[in-house]
Amino acid sequence: MRWTQTLIPTMKEDPADAEVPSHRLMIRAGLIRQLMAGAYTYLPLGYRALRKAERIVREEMERAGAVEIHMPALQPVDLFERTGRFEAFGDVLINFHVPRGDRKVHLALGPTHEEVVTDLAAHHISSYRQLPITLFQIQTKFRNEERPRFGVLRTSEFLMKDAYSFSTSPRQLEETYRKMYDAYCRVFARCGLDYIAVEAESGPIGGDASHEFMIPAANGEDRIVRCANCTYGANLERAETGRTPDLPAAASDSPKLEEADTPGATSIEQVSKMLGCRPAEMVKTLIFIADGKPAAVLLRGDHEANEGKIRRALGVGSLELADEKTIEEVTGAPVGFAGPVGLKCELIADHDVPRVQPAVTGGNAADLHLTGVTYGRDYELSSTFDLRNAVAGDPCPKCGTNLELVHGIEVGHVFKLGTKYSEALGATFLDEHEERHPIIMGCYGIGVNRIIASLAETSHDENGLIWPLTIAPYEVILLPLNVTDEETTRVAEGFLKELEDAGVDVLYDDRDVRPGVKFKDADLIGIPLRIVVGGKGLKEGKVEIRWRTSSEAEKVAVSEGARAALQMLSAAREEQGSLVG
Ligand code: ATP
Ligand code: MG
Repeated sequence: MRWTQTLIPTMKEDPADAEVPSHRLMIRAGLIRQLMAGAYTYLPLGYRALRKAERIVREEMERAGAVEIHMPALQPVDLFERTGRFEAFGDVLINFHVPRGDRKVHLALGPTHEEVVTDLAAHHISSYRQLPITLFQIQTKFRNEERPRFGVLRTSEFLMKDAYSFSTSPRQLEETYRKMYDAYCRVFARCGLDYIAVEAESGPIGGDASHEFMIPAANGEDRIVRCANCTYGANLERAETGRTPDLPAAASDSPKLEEADTPGATSIEQVSKMLGCRPAEMVKTLIFIADGKPAAVLLRGDHEANEGKIRRALGVGSLELADEKTIEEVTGAPVGFAGPVGLKCELIADHDVPRVQPAVTGGNAADLHLTGVTYGRDYELSSTFDLRNAVAGDPCPKCGTNLELVHGIEVGHVFKLGTKYSEALGATFLDEHEERHPIIMGCYGIGVNRIIASLAETSHDENGLIWPLTIAPYEVILLPLNVTDEETTRVAEGFLKELEDAGVDVLYDDRDVRPGVKFKDADLIGIPLRIVVGGKGLKEGKVEIRWRTSSEAEKVAVSEGARAALQMLSAAREEQGSLVG
């Protein structure tokens, strides 16, 4: 492809509104342009990269035995009402009424396709003989995200590969789930992404019901916990800690329990400032409504509550922070002054709480806190639980080594759904004894745009993007220094033909601009291999070949140039292939 015949609007300056590297670089390199918040046009370079990612995803889905279909983005809202997701999606679901004759129909733009695909299965799958089967599509999804941001990392319209598996038994589901999991590993490795697979929330079937594929990145919106030593990794909601519940002995040399006036100080931060203590020397008391009844949860002042863990420890289904009125009834004080001493409701504590000795806590009266609060003397606990989010340095639940906390971008998600959708939409099968059961489902999503955006986010230097060969919009950029020089053009065009004939994607920078501009742009758009033709080198009968990532160029005789480039490319492809395994 000739540069002058395509559209690559590179920019010298950083766009003002771009907060993260991927956004900034994708705009500057002329990959994308914004239409409005959350909606982007993919320009030729961006779209080529996206299509390459799409192709890898498709190949790996097919290799794993999934079959491709294409479902409508336009869906009847009625299906979402039947699964209860019209409510659950809320404002995220883009929906509207359109006139049809003398009535109106209520439609939605699909944010995902569980409903549509399960409805399809309900109509066309009826026997165990048709199972298992996995259907997938690569299609535009619509979500009215509350905060579309960070360029194409989070948009209201995006390309998703979504696959759905249908099985007769949990064992059959497990087999498919494994195949999909392995296919995801191959997809992300082939895309040159440094991914980690982490445990995510457990689903209706319990156990390892869900994994997220994350790209560690400073600007990632997800927080993930991983072990520096073993393979343990989980998202923050799910991550466990290997702490043990041994209750410490009550301290014998504790200071006196004392009251401290803390007018208007209702947060840990305010109290810590007012009383001159660190948050880690405080115990906070959160009041929840658990299955309709109030319950108090104690945490060290600097720790974050984990609602999933609290729900499991209390053995309840529903959990929400208590309203002001309940808090006043339970503690006798307005919000912000709850504490364990003399509290009259069910109370559970995190493992770290009894170790805060003495502690600063709320005083269960307006504008009052207590100091010198001592476990075993001023309040009792019969046991403790893991109730908080993991923090860096916690012991790993598998091997005891220190856990680390990193940010990540979710690029994919595999999930054992169970029978939630098949039951709601009547997707059943008859087994070998003619007995009817709901089909057991799994769903598997990949954000194709996020593959591109997370590569841009994690693979660049101060000069621009650095694409892996498999995703790069072009594998080679051919750079004639001076297009008005006949010899230069003759040699360069010769390379272009030879490389294109060999099936290489070549971008030919045929612009009549200064070499400096071409070099800068070549670095910015990040094409892996650069061939420079012209100038002094050409007079000596040589061309220069250089990887985007290396500082040294190889000087090769003109007659050998194309062959040398092809060899370099095939060696690099082989190396990449060996990483995929
Ligand atoms: P997030 O937590 O980031 O909002 P999600 O968990 O809601 O994502 P899923 O429903 O699991 O997303 O969708 C499957 C995949 O689609 C995600 O793993 C992600 O890669 C991609 N994806 C989801 N929402 C967006 C979006 N708004 N823009 C781009 N890609 C997205
Ligand atoms: Mg997800």
